[in-house]
Amino acid sequence: MKLILSTRNKHKVEEISSILDVPGLTLLSLDEFQNIPEVVEDGDTFVKNAIKKAITIAMITKKWTMADDSGLEVKSLNGEPGVISARYAGEPVSYEANNRKLLSKLTGIRNREARFVCVMALSNPHGKCQIVEGSCSGAIIEEARGRSGFGYDPVFVPDGHIKTFAEMDAEQKNVLSHRYNALMKAKQQWINIFSVADPDDFVRI
Ligand code: IMP
Repeated sequence: MKLILSTRNKHKVEEISSILDVPGLTLLSLDEFQNIPEVVEDGDTFVKNAIKKAITIAMITKKWTMADDSGLEVKSLNGEPGVISARYAGEPVSYEANNRKLLSKLTGIRNREARFVCVMALSNPHGKCQIVEGSCSGAIIEEARGRSGFGYDPVFVPDGHIKTFAEMDAEQKNVLSHRYNALMKAKQQWINIFSVADPDDFVRI
């Protein structure tokens, strides 16, 4: 089947393709479509944003669409930065400014527990949607370390490791990440949809 990924981010399309890797499944990025409007991520949860992105694009294109929303939740900050992870320190968006704000809010706080969350939503062409969620638990360190990855990677150490995500190579991070966990669930849960040429004919979600 052909599945639209509700993103223009080539890096995400590559990462998702390498993990899903289902025979017969072709992934299309939004760049392959004309006149698709930006979907405003104004939900107060990752679930609401992922569902909105998947349903909106599916109903415009009349094609099966998968969308994700992700971010970081820090326990002692009541789940901040959460859905505003990308713009935590305001506009213009800056990963460094976000990390500086996070570290300064955590100054003197002993509980550094945090988790990355990723919600994937799959919508059929009529706007019927299902979701899966993946997470990766860890801790926020006191000073940024490492140069790989993006976002909060330099300040996040996953449980059971000593390197930050930004000190790991991509292969190492990718099999630990919230996105990987969500995609493995997606593959398991939706394999019967992904592996047929035209799921509309007989798959109901
Ligand atoms: P989006 O869902 O890709 O738009 O991600 C929202 C924001 O969450 C990003 O801009 C990052 O700040 C943060 N984020 C999501 N996934 C990761 C990750 O794997 N590493 C670091 N930061 C991430």
